Amino acid sequence: MAQWFALKAENPEALLFFRMGDFYELFFDDATAAAAALDIALTARGTHAGDPISMCGVPVAAASAYLARLIRRGFRVAVAEQTEAPRKGKGAPKGPLARAVVRVVTPGTLTEDELLEPGRSNLLLALAEQPGSGRGRKSKAADAESLIGAAWIDVSTGLFETASISAAALAALLGRLDPAEILAPADMALGEHDSARAPEVLIPNVETARQRLAAAFDVASVDAFGTFTDEEAVAASVAVDYVQRSQAGKLPRLAHPSPQMEGGVLGIDPATRASLDILRARDGGTEHTLFSAMNQTVTSAGARMVAEWLAAPLTDPARIAARQDGWCWLRESPSCSAALRDALKRAPDIARALGRLSLGRGQPRDLAAVRDGLHAARAAAAALGADHTALPAYLARAAASLGAAPELEVELVRAVADDLPARLEDGGVIAAGYDGELDGYRGLRDNSRRIVAGLQTEYASRFGVASLKIKHHAQLGYVIEVPVAASARIKDRDDLMFRQGTASNARFSTEELSSLDARIAEAAERAAAREKAVFAALVERILAEEALPVLARALAVLDVLQSCALLAAGGSWCRPVVTDDTAFVLEGCRHPVVEAALSKGTRFTPNGCDLSASRRVMLLTGPNMAGKSTFLRQTALAVLLAQGGFPVSADKAHIGIVDQLFSRVGASDDLARGRSTFMVEMTETAAILNQAGPRSLVVVDEIGRGTATLDGLAIAWAVLEALHSTVRCRAIFATHFHELAGLVDTLPRLSPHTMAVREWRGQIVFLHEVLAGSAKKSWGVHVAKLAGVPPSVVDRAGRLLRELERDHATGPKPLPLFDTQKILPQEDENTLRKRLLEVDPDALTPRAALDILYELHKEA
Ligand code: ADP
Repeated sequence: MAQWFALKAENPEALLFFRMGDFYELFFDDATAAAAALDIALTARGTHAGDPISMCGVPVAAASAYLARLIRRGFRVAVAEQTEAPRKGKGAPKGPLARAVVRVVTPGTLTEDELLEPGRSNLLLALAEQPGSGRGRKSKAADAESLIGAAWIDVSTGLFETASISAAALAALLGRLDPAEILAPADMALGEHDSARAPEVLIPNVETARQRLAAAFDVASVDAFGTFTDEEAVAASVAVDYVQRSQAGKLPRLAHPSPQMEGGVLGIDPATRASLDILRARDGGTEHTLFSAMNQTVTSAGARMVAEWLAAPLTDPARIAARQDGWCWLRESPSCSAALRDALKRAPDIARALGRLSLGRGQPRDLAAVRDGLHAARAAAAALGADHTALPAYLARAAASLGAAPELEVELVRAVADDLPARLEDGGVIAAGYDGELDGYRGLRDNSRRIVAGLQTEYASRFGVASLKIKHHAQLGYVIEVPVAASARIKDRDDLMFRQGTASNARFSTEELSSLDARIAEAAERAAAREKAVFAALVERILAEEALPVLARALAVLDVLQSCALLAAGGSWCRPVVTDDTAFVLEGCRHPVVEAALSKGTRFTPNGCDLSASRRVMLLTGPNMAGKSTFLRQTALAVLLAQGGFPVSADKAHIGIVDQLFSRVGASDDLARGRSTFMVEMTETAAILNQAGPRSLVVVDEIGRGTATLDGLAIAWAVLEALHSTVRCRAIFATHFHELAGLVDTLPRLSPHTMAVREWRGQIVFLHEVLAGSAKKSWGVHVAKLAGVPPSVVDRAGRLLRELERDHATGPKPLPLFDTQKILPQEDENTLRKRLLEVDPDALTPRAALDILYELHKEA
């Protein structure tokens, strides 16, 4: 227990997995918490200070599944292993085996496939304030201007990037990276990402930070890798320290920290990200997302890269065109593309295998992953044809990295056995014929085993016991086993040593058997040690191969490009023209997710969208359910796709680079944070008006819906004017205030559009078509009927509407309003009600009931 207390004290924030033989045991409060979280039995063992010690445990062999559940529930787990082998024999010193924490498992530092989502990065993010900008001394304005250093690491793949951002840009960065774990100063607000916050860590000063970083990468100064601001260096050092501590001092192989310039990526604020279901849907799942509708990659690394590109679309037309050139070439060469796809299908996740190998956590299949990855890379290079000079630059660059490390592949093919065990300790990882010494030990071991097997017949006849068997016993080694009845006959022989008796058998050994047993054990031990050494040497060779991470990334790039080519091959996804201006024309554009979700037989109605300079603000009216939100979202998604370098779900698209995308579509209630819907709506409106510029695209739905009609109309009106004349951005403004259409006369770049609706025998049919013009009616009453509002209420609403419409001036000036008398229930309804209340249905004969019905009918 003293050992347990000491290890627990080193890791107070984590549950301690305390290795005892084949189990990780947990004690005290750790046990209570884990038993509840894992739904496993809680027992007790021994006492501490007079109380029983709570305990529970998980088998080592199944630990990763339990770890995964604990991590998902927000726990951290410190894993304490036995750091010396169990001692055998009588002379061994007494006392518990030495133990040490070899790793702290935290959400942001995972490497095991079982704990990771294959198609997503798993990021640890460290944030640091600008040195010298102590919070207490600042005004709010200075606060918004101060800089934040950010550094993010994916331990599983070695990615390491940093940035220096304004405090105002933090929310967007968090949304883009969606980190699994965040190290941040306690007073830095993380919004909805607060659940990923790690326990606080010590922040080094700038000097120490730079030194530690340089030391971690074994360079004289981090400037070797680029220019890091002070806050970036501090954040990077915090991240590296944390990773190092979580791996018990061992630093996995990380890419050199690479500072990212701000700008260069499309600005997407968190509300926009939430409204567009890019990588995750609102329910947190990955179904019904843009990603799932367009991803056609065949490898996890490719899927991660699609996610990366979607999360951070570019703003440089040249870089976008490079990606497009890549997949267009493949689209035009379908056979290359198909061959490439086949090659990639066999490519394992090299990046994550390298991550585990570099932490000494590599398993046999990680060696195989590198071997098969190299093979797949060669096949991929061949798929691109013999002459890579004809390829577009982006493809050519990826292709050029594929030929790396040919000797390593040859070596691994020779070294790694075909049938691999799950763990190195199980043996048989290194193929026969690769290492002479290993083959020698294995030969000795197997030879002796064969001799032992042959001894059984010899002994049976020598000792005259036909049922004699030679068996291997965990403690005794090889023994002769005979039935008790036969043992009396032979037990006094000089050449037999009695070892053990059971109720039914007696066990003996011979000198010959003992020495063979010792030889086998020794040879097996040597073979295991040699196999470990050979494995380690191979791992070292792999890690020394600097081109491997580059090759892994090249395979991912190729996978993304072939995915795009496949998507575009069907003809319904186009290559957009992306230019450095404010052009904006989409033709035949569709919402990929809604389209995929439509039931069979229902066709998605494509729509164009023209926000060219002379008509850059679209005013969209139309009833609910007519397809407004779908149209707004598909337009925003087209920008994300186009600037990510992907094909766009449209017949044709021309998009002038958007610098910031703002999408406010669909009710976002933020009630959990205690803000009313209207307050949220206005906060978001404010954010758009304060941040959007002439290069931005704004798509907003129903500004002003959350308040009284006149208030709402006034606000919507003013916001529309501001977007049009002050912000001067491209925008789609959907509204149910038809009155706003009157503004076309004063706002020259406003183009009114409406969702087509047809009335048919008193029913409405939504055509989902966007037409020039404005809606005449809002059809709310019809939608209420569709939704199943009781007919009496719908009728009543219909009548009220007609009354109101008679009085209500339409046009840009909504004028007040109604005579309240008109909306009071009418006299005849009162009579009906009164009469009905007078009746006691239980006391009526059928005849009397019918009479009343006739009477009421006549009055009506
Ligand atoms: P609104 O925002 O006007 O209330 P939505 O955009 O939510 O309407 O659309 C309502 C439903 O209509 C969608 O869930 C979808 O099933 C269907 N829909 C929308 N747009 C289209 C379209 N262009 N083609 C076919 N169906 C559509």
